Amino acid sequence: MNHTAKYWPDVDTHWDLPITIASLSFCKQTFNHALVQHVCMYIAEERWPELKEYFVDNSLALVPLGSTEQHGPHLPLATDYMIAEAYARKAAAETEFLCTPTVNVGVSPHHKQFSGTMWVDAPVFRNYVESFTRNLAYHGIDRVIFVNAHGGNVQHLREVGRRLRDDRVLYAIEWMWNESIPDLVNDLFEQNGPHGGPKETAMIQYLADELVRNDRLAEAHEEGLSSFDSETGRKFGARTFYDAIDNTENGVLGNQTDATAAKGKEMFEAATEQLIKLTEWVNKQPLDELMPKSHVWDSPLDEAGRGRGMKIRNRLVHLMRNVTGLDRAGGRLAVTTVPHVPR
Ligand SMILES: [Zn+2]
Repeated sequence: MNHTAKYWPDVDTHWDLPITIASLSFCKQTFNHALVQHVCMYIAEERWPELKEYFVDNSLALVPLGSTEQHGPHLPLATDYMIAEAYARKAAAETEFLCTPTVNVGVSPHHKQFSGTMWVDAPVFRNYVESFTRNLAYHGIDRVIFVNAHGGNVQHLREVGRRLRDDRVLYAIEWMWNESIPDLVNDLFEQNGPHGGPKETAMIQYLADELVRNDRLAEAHEEGLSSFDSETGRKFGARTFYDAIDNTENGVLGNQTDATAAKGKEMFEAATEQLIKLTEWVNKQPLDELMPKSHVWDSPLDEAGRGRGMKIRNRLVHLMRNVTGLDRAGGRLAVTTVPHVPR
């Protein structure tokens, strides 16, 4: 069977070039390798001597993260991680910074009722991302951009970034593609989604149209929740729902028939520009400027986070010495304090 389809984007002339692949199953396995291969420095495809050279001269890495979760009857479960990977690889190619493998499974328990959705619990996700990011620091990386395309990951990536910064391991920030172009997204769609809506549909139509069931767009719209705002599911100020299925029977929101590949291309180019600017900005900042500021008080926490506790302990020791006449040589003072470690 011959199957003609558009696959992962190349950096320049191949960007819109359709390629013919022998079979659909082959193309599905290779969709993320066909055109992006070698166009950016992708850590998994390099050898260690080249990577050593990179780490001598550079200290920034782009880390794509998404999810494998339902995106309605028309979009593949890979939607979020395909979008994240496309942005990260394109920005890496343009800036010549390093791109890591993609984290394909994220925090998606709110889509669990729909067949196939995969997720990990939030603490597992945070610890996993923190662990491999710490290990990038071992090689010399001191700044990381989490190129994210799944809303459920946002708060957890922020938390991981905080932990790593508070511990002065490195500076890591979260970037969500659609948040970098809010005006354009609002202009292009009457109701952009958020989940599985025309915004994400247009992105996948552009990046991998062969994976979109375009014949189901009307159905997706009719059976989903077409209008969604900040008041949906709220009662007396409280958000009463937890799962997508509480609001939408088929898992999606917005009007999918409003999506086109041309709109996807426009968003992709605009958000990529934002990501490139962010990458260059993060790279230029002196590391000190990216690290936590000192405490306003004259006794800031020291590097191990115990400055204030130690100071209180020393004051107590001083007081007790005056009271008991003990000194360091005269006896051990049992004064302990609990160091405050920011977490
Ligand atoms: Zn999504």
